[in-house]
Order: sequence, then C-alpha cells, then structure tokens
Amino acid sequence: MDCLFCKIVAGEIPANKVYEDDQILAFHDIAPAMPTHVLFIPKAHLAGVRDVTADNAAVVAHIFSVIPQVAQELGLTDYRVVSNNGPEACQSVQHLHFHLLGGKQMGGMV
Ligand code: AMP
Repeated sequence: MDCLFCKIVAGEIPANKVYEDDQILAFHDIAPAMPTHVLFIPKAHLAGVRDVTADNAAVVAHIFSVIPQVAQELGLTDYRVVSNNGPEACQSVQHLHFHLLGGKQMGGMV
C-alpha cells in the first residue's frame, strides 16, 4: 500500500519520533502548525476516523492514554488534539492520525 505513514512505521521514511511501542507511533509533524505539533498514529493502517469500529477502537484509546504522558514530557499543560477526516476536513494523509498541538495561545476551532 502506498501510504506515507505506513512507510514511516516501516522505517522506509525517517521521522522525528517522540514515542513508540508495539501498537502506536508518535512523531513531530514535518510542517508544524504550532510550536509543538506531534502526530499520533496506529501502526496498523486505518484510513481515518471513518475506519474506527468497536473491534479496533482499543488502539485509539491507547493513543489517548499516551497523549497526556507525551504532552507532559514536551512541557505542555494546555493543548488541542485534532483528527481531520476526509477532504472537507482537509485530511491530507489517509492514515489515521491525531494532531497534538500546543505551545501558544490558540483561537477558535476552524
Ligand atoms: P492531515 O492534513 O490532517 O492529514 O495531517 C497530515 C499531517 O502530516 C500534516 O500536518 C503534514 O504536515 C504531516 N506530514 C506530512 N508528511 C510528513 C512527514 N514525512 N513527516 C511528518 N509529518 C508529515
């Protein structure tokens, strides 16, 4: 499958990793939109939030259990977690990911 984030998981494309275990990976966004901008992904390919089901949602819960730990390690107390799903939401990489954004005052949602 020609998926950028699967290639990062496979080590074919480098990433600035901040967390990794057998299920998930977190790495700095290559084009940060905030002073801190980290992406959390499941290692197993899911195209987006649209692919999350009762059968695979445990990995999403796992990601959300790790986000506060990584945020703390990066010095964040206040932050935003976002997942864009589909073209209208400007999803550009079709592999489920959650943006962890922080480091300065944010505005509204969209
Ligand atoms: P989205 O637009 O919500 O699909 O988010 C995709 C994110 O992936 C964007 O913020 C990009 O800057 C980021 N991105 C694209 N290529 C890479 C890469 N090779 N390493 C790290 N982040 C990337």
